[in-house]
Amino acid sequence: MSHKRYFISACLLGQKVRYDGKDCLVAKLVQALLDKNYVSLCPEVSAGLPTPRPAAEIRHGSGADVLFGQAQVFSEDGYPLSDAFIQGAYQALALAQANHVTHAVLKANSPSCGSNGIYDGSFTGQKIAGEGVTAALFRQHGIHVVTEQQFLAELTQTKFTDELN
Ligand code: SF4
Repeated sequence: MSHKRYFISACLLGQKVRYDGKDCLVAKLVQALLDKNYVSLCPEVSAGLPTPRPAAEIRHGSGADVLFGQAQVFSEDGYPLSDAFIQGAYQALALAQANHVTHAVLKANSPSCGSNGIYDGSFTGQKIAGEGVTAALFRQHGIHVVTEQQFLAELTQTKFTDELN
């Protein structure tokens, strides 16, 4: 077994923790993790937010800005959620650090878990460069963060390289 230890967004493993009460199960990811060491959690649910819950986006910034108090997370109905999102990020980090996590596979585009793009805060489906609050906190603590698609692409690439060698 590899020395890598993973943190996985709970919704990617089939837990129905998304804001809309659904999961984002990626069967290939579950299969790829069979021989890997990992822990999993949903930062938003961990912070006490209900499921389902209104959609949320970061306004005027990215996850790191939220951590520094320079941008805010709002629900679609205008409720401020930064405190809950920051709390969830720290709970995820505590679990990751307790388990010596080195790598994280976080759900793309989420205001918590997104790592290579997020929605722009207008709730119109527009995406911008940036990351969610948990992804930003993980990176600040040296955890390598990728999306589920990047993880699967890297895995395919590694297998391909192994076959060539
Ligand atoms: Fe999935 Fe992360 Fe959203 Fe929870 S906060 S539902 S783990 S993307």
